[in-house]
Amino acid sequence: MLERIEQLRKELTLYNHKYYVEASPVVSDYEYDQLLRELQELEAAHPECYDPTSPTLRVGSDLTNDFVSVAHRFPMLSLSNTYSLEELKDFVEKVEREEGPTEFVCELKFDGTAISLTYEHGRLLRAVTRGDGVRGDDVTANVRTIRSVPLVLQGEGWPDYFEMRGEVIMPHTSFARLNTEREEIGESPFANPRNAAAGTIKLQNSQEVAHRGLDCFLYYVVGDGLPHQSHWDNLQAAKGWGFKISDRMQRCHSWEEIENFITRTDKDRENLPYDTDGAVVKVNDYVAQRRLGSTAKAPRWAVAYKFKAEQALTKLLSVDFQVGRTGAVTPVANLSPVQLAGTVVKRASLHNADQIALLDVRIGDMVYVEKGGEIIPKITGVELSERGEECRPLEYITHCPVCGTELVRMEGDAKHFCPNQEGCRPQIVGRIIHFISRKAMNIEGIGEETVELLYDSGLIHNVADLYDLQPTMIATLPRMGVKSAENIMRELAASREVSFERVLFALGIRFVGETTAKYLAHHFGSLDAIMNASEAELAEADEVGEKIAASIRAYFEDEENRSIIERLRKVGLQFVEAEKERLSESLAGLSFVISGSFERHSRDELKALIELHGGKNLAAVSGATNYLLAGDKIGPAKLQKATKLGVQIISESDFEAMIGSVEPSVSMDVGTEHKKENEKIAIQGELF
Ligand code: NAD
Repeated sequence: MLERIEQLRKELTLYNHKYYVEASPVVSDYEYDQLLRELQELEAAHPECYDPTSPTLRVGSDLTNDFVSVAHRFPMLSLSNTYSLEELKDFVEKVEREEGPTEFVCELKFDGTAISLTYEHGRLLRAVTRGDGVRGDDVTANVRTIRSVPLVLQGEGWPDYFEMRGEVIMPHTSFARLNTEREEIGESPFANPRNAAAGTIKLQNSQEVAHRGLDCFLYYVVGDGLPHQSHWDNLQAAKGWGFKISDRMQRCHSWEEIENFITRTDKDRENLPYDTDGAVVKVNDYVAQRRLGSTAKAPRWAVAYKFKAEQALTKLLSVDFQVGRTGAVTPVANLSPVQLAGTVVKRASLHNADQIALLDVRIGDMVYVEKGGEIIPKITGVELSERGEECRPLEYITHCPVCGTELVRMEGDAKHFCPNQEGCRPQIVGRIIHFISRKAMNIEGIGEETVELLYDSGLIHNVADLYDLQPTMIATLPRMGVKSAENIMRELAASREVSFERVLFALGIRFVGETTAKYLAHHFGSLDAIMNASEAELAEADEVGEKIAASIRAYFEDEENRSIIERLRKVGLQFVEAEKERLSESLAGLSFVISGSFERHSRDELKALIELHGGKNLAAVSGATNYLLAGDKIGPAKLQKATKLGVQIISESDFEAMIGSVEPSVSMDVGTEHKKENEKIAIQGELF
């Protein structure tokens, strides 16, 4: 028995790490909850095995070393949960036995990552993750980018110092866009919006966080001196202060009302633009809440009822292997059509070879299909009791299904790749389609079909060939006329003006997405500088790690790529970043790393000032760094590294002295900052 308990504790601790820290779960929530429940029952039956570090007694921790950790003023607990309506009813009855007739508040259970927002004098002071419930990571800079989080409160009646707790979520539209972008550049997609939200809130780069489109619902007001004595009333007041509070909340006075709320929510949730994984039932009155109290892990006055993800059981007919622009191979299952959450599902993603092996899925199997926030549903399990003799194990392909080249799989990559970049049709066509796409060179006249047509008729083999096209060549193609040919020629000519950062993105270097291209362009200023940079130098640009640096080097070392680039240079595409206006040369030749938060400037403003005065921004402290511009709550690791390398550490005032005076156009005094934030609030006001 002790053995099983220990095994469960070990397994659940591993799953917690994968889920909370890596945002990349390896088992389903339902499976996790079943194991946790088994452990709870075993521990209850064997009190001699008590261990305060057991996963049953601790809130799963998201703490990392990358952020400053902050103690929560009030512990940030989890919720007890159940998948059974009967157990939920037991909870309601137990509360009423102890408290008499009780008012409950039923809410959506938002499927994201928990956040605590502290407000002082009506202004956002800090945003902290749940962490281990006692301490959390300070992610204020990232949360400030979420437009629905008020930086300055509206209305009146808020306490001088209080906390709002809620959930940072990633709406379906943001999630779909993010995963498409990740797949486009060869990154593995996030498993679901929850993991995407949890991963995003822990990014080091707030600009990238802003780009990803998070949202935030608030569901608790915590603190002294709150205006009301009940959860519901305080939330309604908080709505008036500018917080995003869901309208899908209801006060219930009987089990029937609660059950109705749950049935309705389960039915409606398919139509919501974000994920909910259940409903939360809370006791409304604060006095009753206090009397009921909490365990070390969760309050006794609230319970989450979790919905089991909607599943369909259907037959796996065959598996296709698709090859993308980067050569990545994705297995896609063809299914016997089945109704799931309002649509007919015929295809589902199997992600990669590991996933297939993990599920041990075979052709002819009856498989479970689920829909998360993704457009393409996924296979989550096999009904083994229905496996027939005829079910054949699925052999993963060893050669490209299009060009026949042997596939490779690099260490650390989840996917197999076709290495035949120059000869594999979907890769060549995919690269050209990427090059002309809206966010890249924006050549609208040529659609995907036209690219295929141009390629298949031998007119183009790579992106440089586009610029050798003649109107007469295009006009003779099926469905093309003189007019469309002229359009295309005009757009190709106009693409010479497209900015360098977009040209860099358009090249389609693996892992170099829109944002990374922007940072690279900004950091190096020209394509030649990037081509001549070593991996170590490349890794100095924001958001560029070893993996991206290696991919960039590999791209430019390729003969064919170099020849395409020389042809594009001759055509006159922008290979240099447009000149930026300089205010002075006082920081010329000096490089800076910025860390912490500052009194008078945001980090982005400081970065802009460094460049305006001729200096260079570096992402990490290294031997090449001249100054570490250190603010409040600077990461201890950075400080230590700077001291070790002898990098000079300077304050915001030292920096201001270095650039002489502070230019009014970029700097802001506290008064204008206040005004700016009020303007933002006015904009947010329109959103509610
Ligand atoms: P939880 O997600 O089940 O519930 C608690 C959380 O719900 C709160 O912290 C809060 O963030 C959120 N929440 C959303 N809406 C809310 C509302 N209206 N009111 C109050 N809270 C609301 O608990 P958890 O501790 O975050 O995570 C534990 C659960 O996570 C497990 O039960 C399991 O389902 C899942 N998990 C899965 C794995 C895995 O490997 N699949 C691993 C660890 C945890």
